[in-house]
Amino acid sequence: MKKLLPTSTAGSLPKPSWLAQPETLWSPWKLQGEELIAGKQDALRLSLQEQQQAGIDIVGDGEQSRQHFVTTFIEHLDGVDFAKRETVRIRDRYDASVPTVVGAVSRQKPVFVEDAKFLRQQTSQPIKWALPGPMTMIDTLFDSHYKSREKLAWEFAKILNQEARELEAAGVDIIQFDEPAFNVFFDEVNDWGIATLEKAIEGLKCETAVHICYGYGIKANTEWKKTLGAEWRQYEEIFPKLQQSNIDMISLECHNSRVPIELLELVRGKKIMVGAIDVATNTIETPEEVANTLRKALQFVDADKLCPCTNCGMAPLSRQVARGKLNALSAGAEIVRKELSL
Ligand SMILES: [Zn+2]
Repeated sequence: MKKLLPTSTAGSLPKPSWLAQPETLWSPWKLQGEELIAGKQDALRLSLQEQQQAGIDIVGDGEQSRQHFVTTFIEHLDGVDFAKRETVRIRDRYDASVPTVVGAVSRQKPVFVEDAKFLRQQTSQPIKWALPGPMTMIDTLFDSHYKSREKLAWEFAKILNQEARELEAAGVDIIQFDEPAFNVFFDEVNDWGIATLEKAIEGLKCETAVHICYGYGIKANTEWKKTLGAEWRQYEEIFPKLQQSNIDMISLECHNSRVPIELLELVRGKKIMVGAIDVATNTIETPEEVANTLRKALQFVDADKLCPCTNCGMAPLSRQVARGKLNALSAGAEIVRKELSL
């Protein structure tokens, strides 16, 4: 993409209230059967239009066809029993009732490929598609079959690679893997987390990205953030290895976070999706606030490698707030683009 500072989002955007309960994670669908399929497509169109009207350059589906960024993908796989639930501690942070891996995991058919084709038909803009990363997938399950986080992660990486290759063939320009778990399990990330991610992108010619954040603006995450001290140095643990990896882009939480911005120097050379929108507050950033975050990042990211983005998904926000934040992101990026062209 030629445009300087192309804007994008981390992925999810709010769903219309006729499709699912607003401002809720894991919100149940309000439609069924054929109506649900058509409703998801209509919501995707709306979500795309909102991104376009806000002037977002790299667009997505707003994750309108999935209930949750991890579980919806897993629901389509064999080897996982959704009726057999166990309580596990997710990302060392909060307990949740999750499905159980009961046998060998496999993907019998594509999960999101038809949705991606549909999005591709709607726009000629570059499109980005998000998938959960292997480590975040295993962290959202109870495993009674492999009994090894690493083994299960490698199996998921193979499955993700199958899906990613088909998404690429469907015309997706950037495939992103969501790995919030990378901010928690540093030893595992360095031992096998990044390696499994590289397995997931094996053979792809499109651009690839990893999204590493401090989570949605839900209570468990905001409470956790309060315990992290004055400086959030989690990225420092994994950036050196990530810098050496084959991943093209890294999506990070920057705005209103306590991440020391100079840590970005550790991944110099990668394209960076700089989070310039806080998803944990309903306060809409001013364009100047967005511009400020981007200016700080530009000290450590080359201008041709910086993509202004949101800190994380905006699924739990109201549509009105999300629209305001998308507009602010565009306007803030434009301020800095003008400065750079002087
Ligand atoms: Zn996120």
